Amino acid sequence: MMMQPEVLVPEHTQPATLDNLLQETRTFPPPAQFAAQANATAVLYDQAASDREGFWADQARTHVTWKTPFSTTLDWSDAPVAKWFADGTLNAAYNAVDRHVLAGNGDRVAFFFEGEPGDTRTITYNDLQRETSRAANALAALGVTRGDRVVIYLPLIPEAVIAMLACARVGAIHSVVFGGFSAEALRSRIADAQATVVITADGGFRRGSASALKPAVDEALSGHGSSVEHVLVVRRTGQDTTMVEHRDLWWHDALADANTAHEPAWVDAEHPLFILYTSGTTGAPKGIVHTTGGYLTQTAFTHHHVFDLKPEQDVYWCTADIGWVTGHSYVVYGPLVNGATQVLYEGTPDTPHQGRWWEIVEKYGVSILYTAPTAIRTFMKWGEDIPSSYNLSSLRVLGSVGESINPEAWMWYRRVIGGDQAPIVDTWWQTETGAIMISPLPGVTAAKPGSAQIPLPGIRADVVNDFGEPVGPGAGGYLVLSEPWPAMLRGIWGDRQRFVDTYWSRFSGIYFAGDGAKRDDDGDIWLLGRVDDVMNISGHRLSTMEIESALVSHPDVAEAAVVGASDDTTGQAVVAFVILRGHATERIGEQGHEEVVAALRAHVAKEIGPIAKPRDILVVPELPKTRSGKIMRRLLRDVAEHRVVGDATTLADSSVMDLISAKLAMPG
Ligand code: ATP
Ligand code: MG
Repeated sequence: MMMQPEVLVPEHTQPATLDNLLQETRTFPPPAQFAAQANATAVLYDQAASDREGFWADQARTHVTWKTPFSTTLDWSDAPVAKWFADGTLNAAYNAVDRHVLAGNGDRVAFFFEGEPGDTRTITYNDLQRETSRAANALAALGVTRGDRVVIYLPLIPEAVIAMLACARVGAIHSVVFGGFSAEALRSRIADAQATVVITADGGFRRGSASALKPAVDEALSGHGSSVEHVLVVRRTGQDTTMVEHRDLWWHDALADANTAHEPAWVDAEHPLFILYTSGTTGAPKGIVHTTGGYLTQTAFTHHHVFDLKPEQDVYWCTADIGWVTGHSYVVYGPLVNGATQVLYEGTPDTPHQGRWWEIVEKYGVSILYTAPTAIRTFMKWGEDIPSSYNLSSLRVLGSVGESINPEAWMWYRRVIGGDQAPIVDTWWQTETGAIMISPLPGVTAAKPGSAQIPLPGIRADVVNDFGEPVGPGAGGYLVLSEPWPAMLRGIWGDRQRFVDTYWSRFSGIYFAGDGAKRDDDGDIWLLGRVDDVMNISGHRLSTMEIESALVSHPDVAEAAVVGASDDTTGQAVVAFVILRGHATERIGEQGHEEVVAALRAHVAKEIGPIAKPRDILVVPELPKTRSGKIMRRLLRDVAEHRVVGDATTLADSSVMDLISAKLAMPG
């Protein structure tokens, strides 16, 4: 099934492409030893190319257990809402837990949990089955049934995973809200989903102290008209907690009397599994809806091949919070469906010291690590002697997600963390795509630092110009997905029109991801940042990512964010915000910024050309980031254009914007 893009732009408009500046030519072929044992082989691409739908049907049978087998694969008659495997029935929690127990693997560790204060728990698949069954019975006792919405607002503790799976067991739809979000963010998400139950905790541990969560729930439910009838409260920190009579009950009390056996609710493949609100990097969060069969198929398939998981041997650690889609797909569903053994760590990377992550890798023998570029750049800033003092030799696959990984950060990740051996998989996907879409395959693809490279087998992605026509090698444009895929979103909760407008109206019949991209001379795809962030400097369209990468390739720079600010002469001008590495800060102190700024402007001119030279470079202590670690460039644009700073409610740390604004107000 092919769909032809339609021209939606006025005829006089010239096709515009991004100017393609950054030249990166290093490649790293897979080591022969790795390739010899890899789950993935090049044959997958051929199979998917010859019969795409048949390929996905095979994956659905290989990776997922069905109660009733499906007989249809893709139904696109109600486009852009897809149905995959629609007449099959299954249960997500059964696939994630019960079937491993039934297969005799109940004693396998599902999670090594490491609390921030150093408390640990080992949870087997048997334990998971018992606890998710009890929690499911407890939810059922509160009246929760198929299709009801349950909001989960918890720290990264095992109960968060158990709560999600318990919802899936009873056929309820979970909506996880980051534990770091405010009462207001929680209130709006509860209201949008019309949730009847909230699962929370007294608090969680963060940066060495207990921080309360329950008061935010009380505030979010205050006033009239909340849909919530019950609140289940996990005891995590033991801090004083107010309980509202008839509404609130302790998780441990509710589970204490609950039966340890539970028959999963068998649901249709298209039954909604969860709603998750996007991180809000570009605008107001959208309630993305995912369903069961296609989602499990693609998360399990990608997790198996992209991370080369060997469930009997590997210890896998994805550092994402479950409040982010990466936590849903690559902590909960993908890995558990595949029977993985995982690490789950509650806290921050620098508590109680900056080597905490590497200590955890060494302690559990982590072999697959999946994290975000922001974390890697933070470790670069702290200095490589910290990770180098731990034994990281167990690591054999490294993953990256969330933003483009700058080539220099990629190289550092490979050398310092991966011992110059471990393949790196740079995985492009979104809350909306549900699972990884573009990524090298370890053992198959020769990796290129900074590029996500090629769509996975069974995925059709392309880079197109303003007319929706595919661009050739060496050109830039918009990233689109040109065929439906199993884990694709089925809509925005309660708002079909917004779904159509947001993703399907820029190019007719084709999913528009909102990201800029280019193809290099080999045809590999490079992600260049949000289309909203593309700058127009004297008629040249420049990407934030390329200039940021040039800045980060300077030895003094740890992190950089670039925005376009309106400029009288050039239309827009490049404004850069940089964080210096530890050694540079020590060398030049607070005073010598002028010298660094001059050096950085020259460096950018040398790396990519004078056109990209930032007009202003501001040395800042922090950058505004979402809880999932993404830079919020729209807030920096507000600063650069001297506007009132926009909606910052999804920022991890709202004081950052004050720090930056104060910096800007200072002379020099
Ligand atoms: P919102 O849609 O509300 O603005 P968001 O897009 O930040 O928020 P997510 O779904 O968490 O919410 O993020 C998906 C986006 O993250 C992608 O569209 C892309 O811009 C970026 N991204 C993710 N992985 C990569 C990657 N490997 N390379 C480049 N960019 C990536
Ligand atoms: Mg998005």
